[in-house]
Amino acid sequence: MHPRSKIPHWIWNLNLMTKLNFFLWLVIRNALLTCEFLIARRMEISNMCCLCNHNRENIDHIFKSCLFVQGIWDRIKFNCPTSLLFEGDFLSWIETVYKNYKINCKIFNSPMEKFAIILWNGWIHRNQIVFKKIQPNPFLVIEKATSNFQNL
Ligand SMILES: [Zn+2]
Repeated sequence: MHPRSKIPHWIWNLNLMTKLNFFLWLVIRNALLTCEFLIARRMEISNMCCLCNHNRENIDHIFKSCLFVQGIWDRIKFNCPTSLLFEGDFLSWIETVYKNYKINCKIFNSPMEKFAIILWNGWIHRNQIVFKKIQPNPFLVIEKATSNFQNL
């Protein structure tokens, strides 16, 4: 878990529903109920990522390193080099996104809010795969996130 002092203050200033600010706080605190988190608390479950079935599921993997989510980020086109976007640990990555938050996409006017919405919809999709046994589909995440953007 990241030290509390490293939680960036700007997450509370984002124009989001409170549940999304709190979700982002959980993500940054590495406190989401991922497989890695649950196994560390002695739950006997598979540690495999349900999105790709190739790597251990942790915060870094399901939001940044997983090929499934990289397909989503690739379609979103951040205005900074992709290599920079995917370097470093998760907190560094979020800080990089924050510092480079201009996104080359017409529909994106509030980049960090939209970044948080994409994370949120990725997490919801992951939970639907785990609990409702739907098939992984990056286009569903993009479609749902895009509809959420209209409420910003
Ligand atoms: Zn994966």
